[in-house]
Amino acid sequence: MQGFGNLLEGYRRFRANCYETEKGRWKELAEGQAPRAIVIACCDSRADPATIFDTDPGEIFVVRNVANLVPPFEANGGRHGVSAALEFAVTQLKVPEIMVMGHERCGGIEAALTGCFHGAAAGEGGFVHRWMAQIDGPATEIAETHGTGPDAARMLEELAIRQSLANLRSFPFVQSREQAGNLAILGCHFSISEGQLYLLDEAEDAFRPVTTD
Ligand SMILES: [Zn+2]
Repeated sequence: MQGFGNLLEGYRRFRANCYETEKGRWKELAEGQAPRAIVIACCDSRADPATIFDTDPGEIFVVRNVANLVPPFEANGGRHGVSAALEFAVTQLKVPEIMVMGHERCGGIEAALTGCFHGAAAGEGGFVHRWMAQIDGPATEIAETHGTGPDAARMLEELAIRQSLANLRSFPFVQSREQAGNLAILGCHFSISEGQLYLLDEAEDAFRPVTTD
């Protein structure tokens, strides 16, 4: 129970610091949320959007999954967690911006690139394999031409962000709002070792470092 104990220590600090000094803000938040951006990020513990964008509760609506992927619009009977979150944030909360954030050394991307869980049973990597199969095509192409090292991983991380942006635009409620100028769609990549964010310039199809001064 050591790990759980550590989490409770954090909770006690939250109560003593963040909650006590911001009680009014929490009362306001209880009435409803009006986040200014949706961030689609990886589950990875090192790439936390609230930390990287220095946001407070109520400011960003975060969807996290393995390798920050947005599947295409599919109106079938599947359990579409990303689609449900997107639909709620875009059509009900009317959030005006969506940011897809990839990151360096992504384990999901590495699994897709190396095929390490190919043929694995559920519980032994099979779930990760099935989820990452969304980018199997480009993963195989990159692995064949560039290998499976850090440069190839970075390529696939960036490609997955581009694919997620394309898939976002396959949702009719996203596409119509973007075309009407009511929704901005952005892609970025976070380098853990440098603490540097790279923003995708879609016109030039290039990731450029965000300046910090
Ligand atoms: Zn990741």
